[in-house]
Amino acid sequence: MSTTQANKIEIIKAPNTKINEVDFDNLNFGSVFTDHLFECDYKDGEWQNPTIKPYAPFMMDPSSRVFHYGQAIFEGMKAYKDDNNDIWLFRPDENVKRFNSSAVRMAMPEIPESLFMEGLNQLLKLDEAWIKKGLGNSLYIRPFMIATGYGVVANPSNEYKFMIILSPAKAYYSGEVKVIIAEHFSRAANGGIGAAKTAGNYAGQFYPTSLANKDGFQQIIWTDDATHTKLEEAGTMNVFFRINDTLVTAPTSERILDGVTRKSIIAMAKKEGIAIEERPVLVSELIEGIKNGSLKEIFGAGTAAVVSPIKGFAYKNEYFELPEIENSVALQLKEKLTNIQHKLAEDPFGWTVKI
Ligand SMILES: *Cc1c(COP(=O)(O)O)cnc(C)c1O
Repeated sequence: MSTTQANKIEIIKAPNTKINEVDFDNLNFGSVFTDHLFECDYKDGEWQNPTIKPYAPFMMDPSSRVFHYGQAIFEGMKAYKDDNNDIWLFRPDENVKRFNSSAVRMAMPEIPESLFMEGLNQLLKLDEAWIKKGLGNSLYIRPFMIATGYGVVANPSNEYKFMIILSPAKAYYSGEVKVIIAEHFSRAANGGIGAAKTAGNYAGQFYPTSLANKDGFQQIIWTDDATHTKLEEAGTMNVFFRINDTLVTAPTSERILDGVTRKSIIAMAKKEGIAIEERPVLVSELIEGIKNGSLKEIFGAGTAAVVSPIKGFAYKNEYFELPEIENSVALQLKEKLTNIQHKLAEDPFGWTVKI
């Protein structure tokens, strides 16, 4: 664990706001940022100079380790505003915990939860006008850490920068998603870094995903690297399958990211009395299920889209489409979860945290 001085945050306010230049009805996900950011540097074995300042580019040494050796981790979470103008986070402690376990895996320093949360809370209060009310509106929060120590020497940096940036978001509709089941490429391997939210995991997906895009598919369902027989994640989301009336999803492992949306859906399903199984799901079950009609739904689960229904999949050059259904469990769970997040429904789990 790293140490820190008392979290006294210096605040440098932007001279004016960019908010009036933003068309909140036509936001492209992750492309507009608020007026301020939070920053804190790790030097001489401790976190120092926590600062909120105007959002702006910054300078780095070209030999900074992040450019050469990829020590970079991030999180994705959201803030919501209710009808009383109160601001809410959804299970933020889970994000802090995961951020620190990603840090450990990438040989980076952990950040004290109090510093992370204090920086985030003050940043949200300062930029609160960017959080719009109403179902579908949210502020996407992107905390990240990079290795800033210089020198092209292949060992862990001794200096790091932690930042939080904020981006207003509308409900994210992925459209009709068709996926390819991976037979060659892998997202993660046993003993690897698949369970960490680290930049390289995404970089490694871009090429195989671009090949899938060329064939008219939006995403890849990743399978286990050793045998390519088990279904593990859909793109950058966890994945659920509905077989008859049972939801199934792979258990978390070194190859699977422990998603907050995934675990929330599992908890909600249990409470609703929906049968749910966490167990390895085989490609062969999927093919069998689509042939005999027992496979009803497939959906991805993650913070950005919450739930993203999948329409069909390709496997070994054959395309299979799911039947139209009336009562989508995916959409029911999505509605329940977004209502909890937006404070439009009771939160029996105590997941929402007011700032
Ligand atoms: C972030 C992420 C998820 C989803 O996690 P949430 O906490 O639900 O947003 C799933 N898979 C991968 C690979 C991810 O990086």
